[in-house]
Amino acid sequence: MTGAPGSGRTTLATQMAVGRILSGIPAEKVLVISASRTAAARMRQDLSTQLRSTASQPLARSAASTAFSIVRAWAVANGEPPPVLVSGPEQDAVLAELLEGHLAGEGVAPRWPETLPVESLQLTGFRAELRDLLMRAAEYGLSPEELTELGQRYEYQPWIAGGMVYGEYLDVTAQRWATPDSGQRFDAAGIVDSAANLLALWHSEYGDNPHGELPPPPRWETVIVDDYQEATAATVRLLHVLQDAGAELLLFGDPDVAVQTFRGAQPALMARAGQPRGSELGAFGAERVVLDRVWGQTPELRTITQAVAPVVGAVGLVSHRNAPSALDATETAPTGAEIAIATSPARELAHAAYELRRAHVVDGLDWREMAVIVRSGAQADEARRALTELGVPVLDDAAEVLLRSEPAVLPLLTALDYAAHGALDIDAALALLRSPLGGLDSVKLRRLRRALWLHLRHEELEQSVDDAILELLQQPNLVRLPAAIRRPVERLRAMLEAAHTAAQEPLASAETVLWAAWHATGLARNWQEQALAGGSAGRQADRDLDAVVALFAAAARFVERMPGASMSAFVNQVRSENLPADSLAARATGQSGVAVLTPPAAAGSRWEFVCVLGVQADVWPDVRLRDTVLGAQRLTEVLTGRASGLDRDYAAARRDVLHDEARSFLLAVSRARTRLLVSAVEDPDSDLLPSAFIQVLTTAQVPVTEAAGIGDPRRVPVSLRELVAVLRRSSLDDADPQRRQASEQLLAALAQHAVPGAAPQNWNGTAELSTTEALAGPDDPVYITPSRLDSFITCPLRWALEQAGGTQAPSIQQSVGTLIHELAAELPAGTAEELLAKLDEKWPSLGMPSGWVGIVKRADVEKSVQRLAQYLGEGRSVVSVEEPFDLEIDRARIRGTADRIERTDSGALRVVDFKTGTYAKNEDIPRNSQLGVYQLAIERGCFESEHTSAGAALVYLGGPNKGYKQMPQLALSEDEDPQWVENRIAQTADQMADSTFLARKNSACPRCPVRRSCPLQSEGGRVF
Ligand code: SF4
Repeated sequence: MTGAPGSGRTTLATQMAVGRILSGIPAEKVLVISASRTAAARMRQDLSTQLRSTASQPLARSAASTAFSIVRAWAVANGEPPPVLVSGPEQDAVLAELLEGHLAGEGVAPRWPETLPVESLQLTGFRAELRDLLMRAAEYGLSPEELTELGQRYEYQPWIAGGMVYGEYLDVTAQRWATPDSGQRFDAAGIVDSAANLLALWHSEYGDNPHGELPPPPRWETVIVDDYQEATAATVRLLHVLQDAGAELLLFGDPDVAVQTFRGAQPALMARAGQPRGSELGAFGAERVVLDRVWGQTPELRTITQAVAPVVGAVGLVSHRNAPSALDATETAPTGAEIAIATSPARELAHAAYELRRAHVVDGLDWREMAVIVRSGAQADEARRALTELGVPVLDDAAEVLLRSEPAVLPLLTALDYAAHGALDIDAALALLRSPLGGLDSVKLRRLRRALWLHLRHEELEQSVDDAILELLQQPNLVRLPAAIRRPVERLRAMLEAAHTAAQEPLASAETVLWAAWHATGLARNWQEQALAGGSAGRQADRDLDAVVALFAAAARFVERMPGASMSAFVNQVRSENLPADSLAARATGQSGVAVLTPPAAAGSRWEFVCVLGVQADVWPDVRLRDTVLGAQRLTEVLTGRASGLDRDYAAARRDVLHDEARSFLLAVSRARTRLLVSAVEDPDSDLLPSAFIQVLTTAQVPVTEAAGIGDPRRVPVSLRELVAVLRRSSLDDADPQRRQASEQLLAALAQHAVPGAAPQNWNGTAELSTTEALAGPDDPVYITPSRLDSFITCPLRWALEQAGGTQAPSIQQSVGTLIHELAAELPAGTAEELLAKLDEKWPSLGMPSGWVGIVKRADVEKSVQRLAQYLGEGRSVVSVEEPFDLEIDRARIRGTADRIERTDSGALRVVDFKTGTYAKNEDIPRNSQLGVYQLAIERGCFESEHTSAGAALVYLGGPNKGYKQMPQLALSEDEDPQWVENRIAQTADQMADSTFLARKNSACPRCPVRRSCPLQSEGGRVF
């Protein structure tokens, strides 16, 4: 039965299965074979709903699952242990080991074509091609020797070498897993062929001796194959055996939407089913029926599907393409198709997210009625992440994700590694801290580094910050850390310790150690609560939990299959996996969310609203030839008789690839029942252009629009956050009192439902002042540091907020400044060589990142040290360095330290303050408070008996000048107002004790750490 997308093939297949069972055929004698395990799960659900009963065995299976049930039954019938299916990642890991061995001169010595560089044998891409070749060989039932022979016959080296590796692969897998209690192992590709052979053998042996020890083989009366266009040669061989054993075959398909040709699907087999039975592979003597109505698409969308269909090359059957839509043209609103062109990939995703949310919120469409289809798995991952962040709940497709790329899995693998080796390196430690288990973002990580750096300084410990981080994670430590970074560190430390302890147990395995590590994090409950709370954080927690559960399942499988293998072997296996783990297990279909899929995963499903994203030139269609290296596709062509030799007609090969790409696009656009959005990015500067498929749609009169971004007036609020924002704006709009009142009422209603941001009490700027009290009483002393005096004068508000904790973590620049001050203090007359040697010693303590950032910074610091050496080498007389002082002026208590005190020829003292930042303005130096305070300290006798100040100076060691730059201040006694500094201190102390502080705009505002709380700044204005 051939039918266009939406013609009801799957529905009819379901109904025929139900009809057969209701007419009296036992349910276990009816088998439905679906194209994938997801499609089989859906089919099972439909069947059990309609039959209102469950069967003793699954009614619907994938071909591999059907084959597995046959080989399992055969093993049971012969008293053997049950067989095991080798997962894709396991296969890949074995091939990687074999190829590595060949490079080291071990094992067989396959001779690959000379055009293949030796290094390429270690590439994932090469293994993917090799795996593909071996799977195709297994699919067609070729033995290793037969593959090699075929290579010799066609003088094609990759098949000769591939046959040798195939033989070695089978030997190694048989040996590796050969224990008395483990059954035979099968690859997913080879299992269908093996099942066909076993079943034929079983029938023949049983037929010869029906009363012998062998029980009767499994037999079905009706076998229904849905999406027959995805059938491989092995599946067809199995169908022949089933038909020969008396089964009625019902085949449903559409060759135009085959999307598994890369796995060996042969859509052309559909046309062959009507050939006289047994005349060739796939000739079943079938009667042909064409479904002549389309029920799954509106007339408008059906026209679009019909416009795309001719791009797919015909493989014998085309009459089904003419079927018109049977739906009413005005059925539901909104309907139709639209092409959206965006200016960037981010905008494309934002547009899709908006349209999905709008369809849910405004049109009332359930999330599960919508899907996003993209061409590749990588695009699907990206779309899933972006849509989740944009507030669209998406269904997780855990089976498509590699465990090793799951952020929640990485720290647990590190814990296993640590348990195995008892050591941690700094990269792993930093990755742990940044992981979901650590939870430190780059700002918090910087805070941690600074806190450790200050601790090491304070304790005078000669240890680098990196070493301190490693120590912190491995031993209880006395470093006092802020709570926000202390807890994650303690959690990770507990995890590592628990893993290490568990690994010492006599029966320790990857599974037991993993459990101990996970348990020690104590995150299970937190994540569970977050997951249940919903929202994007909830979805992330949900996904993290799923990933952890999948890791436990992988560990359990590993321990079961490789008893006694080391923990490192498990870690290596997970880390080297390049394919998502395959499983025959049925998967849940009950979640609510938007499905984000590739065309093969979307096959067999239909949604009201479908977004097809990323339809870019060179991406979809991607007409690069798929198997230019090892000829897996050529093998299929030769074995199916589509090619007589190996001389490739490249134009024809490219045409085949284009047809495959067109099939997947056709499948994607035909998944929409009532509404279709197709989008692409047009940004010639980034070489991003819409695909030729977009052109095909425009010829079918699909309108093109520009993708709307955030803030576009065409957008209506489609999330509570947006709605609250709009209402709050209009509730303050005096120009429209009616609208204002309606907004207030709606806000009040939302506030009653605790919608965040709706209640005015929570709005910034509406809270009462917490206090109007002054910072200090009238007679209380005010403590001031010299450097703070000027910062108060520059901006009192910044000073006040910084006093209250609004400071930034010390920057790298500040740490470098402290280091240079230390050099100047330790070597007050140091030469350039001595200072640079000291710098060498102290440099690691900065914990500077390696790479070019570290190299550039180091070169910069060395220049400053040279300038310092220049200053120190000019023969000035030094009285003291880092000299503390204490000064009292009225209520002000000034405490500080002078970098360097020098004696001039006249015997007077001069204070020098070293700076590594940008130069001060010349006009500010005469009234620089810091220098003034130092001078006052000299005059008040804070340093020694000499009370005469010869002035003070800022000496800049950074900046653009080749040498240092000195900016001197006159002696107070020579100033026209010798009392200026005393007056300033007294006045400032009073202002500092006040209860109000002015914000004063200045040149440092752009770098101000409290600008988000400053009423003069746009980002801070909302606070007051
Ligand atoms: S942004 Fe400028 S005006 Fe505002 S607090 Fe900071 S320094 Fe003062």
